[in-house]
Amino acid sequence: MPNLQIITIPNPLLKKKSEEVKEFDQNLKNTIRNMYDTLYSSGNGIGLAAPQVGIMKRIVVIDIKEKDKSNPITFINPKIVKRSKETFVNEEGCLSIPDFFSNVERYKEVEVQWLSENGDLRSANYNGLMSICIQHEIDHLNGVLFIDHLSKIKRKMAVEKVLKQKKKKKN
Ligand code: ZN
Repeated sequence: MPNLQIITIPNPLLKKKSEEVKEFDQNLKNTIRNMYDTLYSSGNGIGLAAPQVGIMKRIVVIDIKEKDKSNPITFINPKIVKRSKETFVNEEGCLSIPDFFSNVERYKEVEVQWLSENGDLRSANYNGLMSICIQHEIDHLNGVLFIDHLSKIKRKMAVEKVLKQKKKKKN
């Protein structure tokens, strides 16, 4: 199967809310597989949400490699059920906003509930990079981008940067 195409801003699909997955069939497994292929061939991505490849379903794949060892986790219909009062600020980037990075404030620790690709209920507490990543990806499922957490001016800068690069690639 060929890789899926990652869509970039200002594609309106990135602003839309995705739908819950209801069928845990082979079709879902194929989509997940293709999403991992796309994530790994992106080179520097650690997470991908289905709407980033134009599939408006609540599916997230994350692989934060630990000591170069692959550690893929698939989240279907993920929900944050508990958040820490404490927040922290870290630099984020996004495959849908290439070459733009900025500091974003996130909850330091979150408890997440989700379903596996077979429909089994899972939950975990996350902190550090995993906490940032899952908050970033769940935002995608709600049509929210990390630049939506920034000032209007910074957001405009990001859009302009991506458009400029798209133009460059065309010429
Ligand atoms: Zn992203």
